[in-house]
Amino acid sequence: MSELAERFGTPLYVYDLDAVARQRDALFSALPEGFELFYAVKANPHPDIGRVLSAGGCRAEISSTGELQAAIAGGFSPAECLYTGPGKTDAELEAALAAGVRMFSAESLDDLRHIGAAARRHGTVARCLLRVNTASAAASTGIRMMGRPSQFGIDSETLPDLMPALASVPGTRLVGAHFFTMSNAESEDALLAEYLHVVTTAAELGMPLEFLDIGGGFAAPYATGGEPARYEKLRTELEAMLDLHLPGWRAGSPRLACESGRYLVASCGRLLARVVNVKRSRGRTFVILDAGINVLGGLSGLGRLLPVAVRLDGEGATEVATLVGPLCTPGDTLGRDVQVPHLEPGDLVTVPNVGAYGPTASLLSFLGRPAPVEVAVRQGEIQSVTRLEYRRVEVA
Ligand SMILES: *Cc1c(COP(=O)(O)O)cnc(C)c1O
Repeated sequence: MSELAERFGTPLYVYDLDAVARQRDALFSALPEGFELFYAVKANPHPDIGRVLSAGGCRAEISSTGELQAAIAGGFSPAECLYTGPGKTDAELEAALAAGVRMFSAESLDDLRHIGAAARRHGTVARCLLRVNTASAAASTGIRMMGRPSQFGIDSETLPDLMPALASVPGTRLVGAHFFTMSNAESEDALLAEYLHVVTTAAELGMPLEFLDIGGGFAAPYATGGEPARYEKLRTELEAMLDLHLPGWRAGSPRLACESGRYLVASCGRLLARVVNVKRSRGRTFVILDAGINVLGGLSGLGRLLPVAVRLDGEGATEVATLVGPLCTPGDTLGRDVQVPHLEPGDLVTVPNVGAYGPTASLLSFLGRPAPVEVAVRQGEIQSVTRLEYRRVEVA
């Protein structure tokens, strides 16, 4: 790692593609035979990561033209992509259909009508899943998106009344349902409770189910130590609940899928940063790094601040410090009251488990620093060294 940091500078993301392959295989084997797995490209659109997942049989879940391009660069065929999101514009739908995307998740009747109109302009019929916002929630874990008002999905209690209209939108064919009720479940039991809720809800929807996407929730640490969760019971318990509620599933009716971002890629990535300054102020120690929320934003800026438990690899913890980046805003705080080894300017620190929600979830262009270099490594060999670039272009 210190060689890579010397060679390519810091802040530097290093992705171990073998770890991506391991997580992909681990998740497929934790799921019942025949399950499809959508990779949520938003977790990390890096093409080398995409290629490991597409080559291993994953499909892509995308929700913008940029993600479509990232999916294609990552070896996913557009025909295998699932296009989701509450704000699909006509231009985005056009681009997706022109590229060959045929499967969409519809978040409302209007969204479905937009999809249908765009598909008709392309002389085709879009296969659509209805994203369902369940009326109640099974578990109170992770980031909840269902069981309450939401911009995501169609409220399940309105489905019976809406179904005739939903089922007759020109340019679309309803093929099933899409749930995504939870991220980063706190335990395997919480995940199973949620899936039971999803599967029973799906079985009672009263719509033809050729395809059922039960969502995600697979857990992995973010910017702190530890390993992705292990799912020992998932396969057998999911099989049992499917046998009970959707008995045709073993014969492919419905076909089943789930989704993951962080579980597949979080553990592959680490961020290398250097200490620029160590400063004491009124009894507090501030360790100022060359990486802030501009390179590790963690979806910051919108109320959800930062991973508060950024840990640095190194010897035993010897002091408590606030880790900050170089930006001119007090919001540029990576961690408060973090145990750190004694650090001096020039020291190299490592933030583990940032293969998901790294550069592209960061305030990349805020304060004008370049995006971090990203190095992909496979079997000890450097596969690519790249950097995202933002520049102003004339549009008119
Ligand atoms: C973000 C997202 C995911 C991925 O979530 P993770 O917690 O990273 O697994 C999957 N599906 C949908 C619809 C999403 O919006």
